[in-house]
Amino acid sequence: MSVRNILVINCGSSSIKFALVNEKQSTFPLQGLAECLGSPEAVIQWQIGEAKETLSLPGADHAAALAKILPLAQEMAGGRLDGIGHRVVHGGEHFTGSSLIDASVLDAINTNAQLAPLHNPANLIGIEAAMSLFPGLPQVSVFDTAFHQSMPEYAYRYAVPEFLYTEHGVRRYGFHGTSHRFVSQRAAEMVGVPVDDSSWLVAHLGNGCSTCAVVNGESRDTSMGLTPLEGVVMGTRSGDVDPALHMYLARTLGWSIEQIDSMLTRDSGLKGLSGLSNDMRTLHEAYEAGHSGATLAFEVFCYRLAKSLASMACALPRVNGLIFTGGIGENSSAVRARTVEHLKVFNFQVDAQANARCTRGTAGQIQTEGSPRILVVPTNEERQIALETLALLDA
Ligand code: AMP
Repeated sequence: MSVRNILVINCGSSSIKFALVNEKQSTFPLQGLAECLGSPEAVIQWQIGEAKETLSLPGADHAAALAKILPLAQEMAGGRLDGIGHRVVHGGEHFTGSSLIDASVLDAINTNAQLAPLHNPANLIGIEAAMSLFPGLPQVSVFDTAFHQSMPEYAYRYAVPEFLYTEHGVRRYGFHGTSHRFVSQRAAEMVGVPVDDSSWLVAHLGNGCSTCAVVNGESRDTSMGLTPLEGVVMGTRSGDVDPALHMYLARTLGWSIEQIDSMLTRDSGLKGLSGLSNDMRTLHEAYEAGHSGATLAFEVFCYRLAKSLASMACALPRVNGLIFTGGIGENSSAVRARTVEHLKVFNFQVDAQANARCTRGTAGQIQTEGSPRILVVPTNEERQIALETLALLDA
């Protein structure tokens, strides 16, 4: 069989992230980002090897941008693309795995849009544009939520009246599933244990952050819930707050649901606590320079993260290791060290030198002798989406 190429597409409301994944190459032959779609500033930037290119496309929408991206991908794939893998945020309870896209899958993604009103419609625009440009090419949807469908009911139900679950789908779904799956499988390979007999605590720390308990390659619990707002502190998202905060703000300040939503989603997290930035790099520099808001944000972030990881341990029969991934998890030795200081009860301990070595995509183990394993594992959601696309093409 010849070596296959999959184009991976991740459509946001005004952007498209894309990567061409060759099943035998560790780097992507092509990757890029279309931004500001639907505005006069619409632009596509892409990279082939070290060479970077930019194409300005004023007013271009998703379909116009894909009309440029798809032929480029086909050319880089030597004239033959084997399939397209689409990231879709919410698969609800309908999707327990990835799916070859047909009319019924499109319908189900549309139905789930009420659970992810900002994301699923954008994902659908990308799928429909790609299908009309390349009608003969197999297209696969890979859901952020699907990996967590293995959670037991006692982990995914909220303690609210049952009809809210049965009639309105109010339950915990979890997100970042593609990343949690990828890094827990990589970690098992790195330490030489079988995936189906392994047990991990995972911290995915990017702009969005979540923790996960992964047992034998399956999610058993995760920190995000009905939406990606639940759980640990994130860049601009609050994570867990007292649910009565909403009533309190409405009653005392007269805030609307929209104001509360915007505050918790866009003005909270590291940004809200520090009053400075949502970016951990900026915060760490400010922390070292003695900025009190940055110090508080860093401390709250690490403590809440450790607390969440400790709670995830309830879902594990034992611990093969703790995995850090995502932009912060892969790069910030300071976050890793401080978080692990709060997990002494599990005997976790970081080796300072090994910790300092793991930045910029370097995988490794960073524990001291005698500590359970602590791993830094670079995530690769594009490759995981391509792998799941290829598995469906093979099936
Ligand atoms: P991601 O969403 O996975 O791309 O992660 C983005 C986040 O990673 C950014 O908001 C930064 O806070 C963080 N990040 C990237 N590089 C570093 C670094 N060298 N040190 C600390 N945080 C970093």
